Amino acid sequence: MTEQSQAAAADPDFYPGRVAGDAGPEQIDWTALRAAARLIKEKAYAPYSGFPVGAAALVDDGRIVTGCNVENASYGVGLCAECGLVSSLNATGGGRLVAFTCVGPDGESLMPCGRCRQLLYEFGGPELLVETSHGIVPMTQVLPDAFGPSDLSRATGPTHT
Ligand SMILES: [Zn+2]
Repeated sequence: MTEQSQAAAADPDFYPGRVAGDAGPEQIDWTALRAAARLIKEKAYAPYSGFPVGAAALVDDGRIVTGCNVENASYGVGLCAECGLVSSLNATGGGRLVAFTCVGPDGESLMPCGRCRQLLYEFGGPELLVETSHGIVPMTQVLPDAFGPSDLSRATGPTHT
């Protein structure tokens, strides 16, 4: 039995690359995450709003993925920093988001917008820890009663014709 299959047998929530045990807020290097978010914020393309945003997240295998907002002359198609972050997550090997932070122009914590809360939920689930201006909170507080992948897997009755 491999180490991973033993872990999977012992823990129904196991998935490859998961941080062993419960990764509580105190085990996360939030200073490093904020630094990564502030660094990537400098790469933002925000000529229209003048509101650069940087986001950084810890992945369950220890990677840090980042993203910055990218605006467009056609304002409505601008991309939030979280869009780049989840793209980077998948482009660099996938995995689950464990901890997330986002900073605005002043380098201080910024809440993800509604759309991005859904993006984060897809890749971090209810356990994802999110840094906010009022502390570290789980995704269940950032996006209560979330719709997620498990809702799609439930049977919904006869197929409509
Ligand atoms: Zn957003």
